[in-house]
Amino acid sequence: MKVYRKIEEIREQIKKDKLLGKKIGFVPTMGFLHKGHKSLLEIAKEKSDVLVLSIFVNPIQFGPEEDLDKYPRDFIQDEKIAKDVGVDYIFYPEEKEMYPNGISTFVNVENLTDFLCGKKRIGHFRGVTTIVTKLFNIIQPDIAVFGKKDAQQLRVIEKMVEDLNIDTKIFRGEIVREDDGLALSSRNKYLTNHQRKNAIALKMSLEKANEMIKNGETNVLLIKNEMKNYIEKNYEGIIIDYLEIVNFENLESQEEIRGEILIAGAIFLGKTRLIDNMILKID
Ligand code: AMP
Repeated sequence: MKVYRKIEEIREQIKKDKLLGKKIGFVPTMGFLHKGHKSLLEIAKEKSDVLVLSIFVNPIQFGPEEDLDKYPRDFIQDEKIAKDVGVDYIFYPEEKEMYPNGISTFVNVENLTDFLCGKKRIGHFRGVTTIVTKLFNIIQPDIAVFGKKDAQQLRVIEKMVEDLNIDTKIFRGEIVREDDGLALSSRNKYLTNHQRKNAIALKMSLEKANEMIKNGETNVLLIKNEMKNYIEKNYEGIIIDYLEIVNFENLESQEEIRGEILIAGAIFLGKTRLIDNMILKID
């Protein structure tokens, strides 16, 4: 496994691999790797000949009040995990390598970014789609894997790839969870013991919605209200950022449960913001 810190160097390497007819698989991350990232790497490994992992905490996707400075980092541990999974190259650039002269050009996916997290984190998805485009231009992957954990991000990337004819096939990875159901996230590290116990609230409210839908409930407003009440009644110290039920294709809200839906939410425990979701197909 090789670690590249310079764009030109990894580009040279990938050019050589491509000349040999190798298929390049890619998983972009912000590091502090966990089993969720590992599962994406395993999917990419199976579908490619050369596996590339990028680790870059991308400043332009963080808002001014967000956790850029304290975002958890542990490159030594990440290197170990990457080696275990069989990563061939880690691209681990410094900020000045990616943004040597600031940035004036952005990629922005409209409409899909108006909802859910996009409404709450202004400019976030523009930062994500811009860095992913830059990384795709550098790595030129044949395939890339993104997690359903960030369901909106996944749809936004898929739309960007479609709209801009980017020659990379996108695969979706399932959400990996702790034993009690909490979705793995680098940000779980911020939680105190007490917060960690209550962090399961969002997942439990998704289960509550799932149960109601399975029992035939189709009224979205009613289900969302139940989710909210359920969290407020059973858990402490939680501020609900949003709970939404939308069409998974276009992320628009709907009044009735039908088709492929995304039930998504974000909660705050203190300053820590956690997201989770469930995708359901209703016949
Ligand atoms: P991040 O490092 O948080 O930017 O995430 C990098 C990639 O890992 C994204 O495609 C995420 O959706 C994915 N990811 C994060 N957490 C999980 C998880 N618990 N299960 C599966 N994929 C995840």
